[in-house]
Amino acid sequence: MNGTGGADDALRRQVVECARSLFSRGLTHGSTGNISARTPEGFLITPTGSSLGTVTPAELSLVALDGTHRAGPKPSKEAFLHAAVLRARPDANAVVHTHSTHAAAVSCLAGLDPAGALPPLTAYFAMRVGSLPLLPYHAPGDTALEEVAERTARTHRAMLLSNHGPVVAGVDLSAATDALEELEETAKLHLLLNGHPTRPLTADEAARLAP
Ligand code: ZN
Repeated sequence: MNGTGGADDALRRQVVECARSLFSRGLTHGSTGNISARTPEGFLITPTGSSLGTVTPAELSLVALDGTHRAGPKPSKEAFLHAAVLRARPDANAVVHTHSTHAAAVSCLAGLDPAGALPPLTAYFAMRVGSLPLLPYHAPGDTALEEVAERTARTHRAMLLSNHGPVVAGVDLSAATDALEELEETAKLHLLLNGHPTRPLTADEAARLAP
């Protein structure tokens, strides 16, 4: 499609595999959720209005790191979030964002700690996600979120958008997806444990595992 050859084709297929995997296991629904992967020109991202269950490699949009649409269909309306995280984290080559049920439920709770919306309940959460800052509510498409997300991503690989869902960066698509899933499972545990006396990892135990 854009003449960059085999590496581009392979990356497109990986994005679609990741999309199918998330969709088939109920981590996204309808046309929610978007996935991006860094390329030499910027990043590939799932297009606006697409379902992660049916999007194809040829349908991915190419966007520059400044958010400019370069090629392919119109990108997800949330492409600016991916651009912000990829600019902030040169170590990250992929970003996954979902409205997955349990993480979205936690994002609607009152009284969350803005510095850590979920406690480090398990070692895998501490290793793959680390602390999870809560970003203030922004209406869909409000690009004021871009600056907050970029600033937060400099020091965190994952963040939770209030009344919305998680955004997770990884060194590659597999790492970003694993961390997103760990976050979702920890959100499920957190909700299951509601009302039960709970012992999360201590700050020291979590710090020794931090990514
Ligand atoms: Zn969203």
